[in-house]
Amino acid sequence: MSEEKKACPVCPRRCVLSEGKTGFCRARGMRKGAVVPLNYGIISSIALDPIEKKPLARYYPGSRILSVGSFGCSLHCPFCQNYEISMSDGEEFLHGGRYLSPEELTDYAVKLRGRGNIGVAFTYNEPLIGWEYVLDTAKLLREKDLKTVLVTNGCANAEIAEQLLPWVDALNIDLKCFRAETYAKTLGGDLETVKNFIVLAAESCHVELTTLIVPGMNDTEEEIRDLTQWIASLPDGADIPLHLTRFFPRYRMTDRNATERQSVLRLVSIARESLRYVYAGNM
Ligand code: SF4
Ligand code: SF4
Repeated sequence: MSEEKKACPVCPRRCVLSEGKTGFCRARGMRKGAVVPLNYGIISSIALDPIEKKPLARYYPGSRILSVGSFGCSLHCPFCQNYEISMSDGEEFLHGGRYLSPEELTDYAVKLRGRGNIGVAFTYNEPLIGWEYVLDTAKLLREKDLKTVLVTNGCANAEIAEQLLPWVDALNIDLKCFRAETYAKTLGGDLETVKNFIVLAAESCHVELTTLIVPGMNDTEEEIRDLTQWIASLPDGADIPLHLTRFFPRYRMTDRNATERQSVLRLVSIARESLRYVYAGNM
């Protein structure tokens, strides 16, 4: 009898898994005949952060948000700032990490209201690979009139986005570059999937975008003009805030210097040709 295999539907990799196997992201695997999130409720990091740190510049400014991360990621960006958790197989978190059920996380978020908390941000690693936990928690948060925020690479297929987005209030989505080849070869992602995700999200709730400006990867005026003109072409796209942030050498990308401040500012002025709200970050 041949071993049963199933494809994970979450991201464009569509990993084909057999019993006991784990996908590329290290956070989903086939167990007892089903593809399940292995990181459900496993918390690697938790902090009450200013909302501007997500970054969200035009969503409840001055407020704070309970920010949680787990482990795993669907991309393999060589400059990842959070590689200790995004590239982890979860061993250290599954054994000895903190587990919070959706009810426990919601109760904690409610308790923090007095300290300016408006909800929960799923961030630090990639939240969409564990979207079931986000969904279960988001439903409880809404009952308590608290917000659900995602900080995400946007690499999720439409069937997942459509189930989750109605429960999400705001997102910061990475649009890491505007060249399909760079997405595929350097980052392990898919530009068209991210663009589709942005379109669906922008129809549904508050969206801000982030592009990390990496020297030699995505820092030409031509690419940033293409990227910003595409954003502006969406319905109300000129009002979607864009954060252009400075790169610093990290993880596997230590072969180049940090982005020059002047370079970011030059690209900010290019972006402002098409968009109303453009912010320079990590300056
Ligand atoms: S979410 Fe993970 S397991 Fe699923 S297709 Fe993407 S990388 Fe593979
Ligand atoms: S998408 Fe984010 S968390 Fe994932 S590898 Fe890239 S930078 Fe790291």
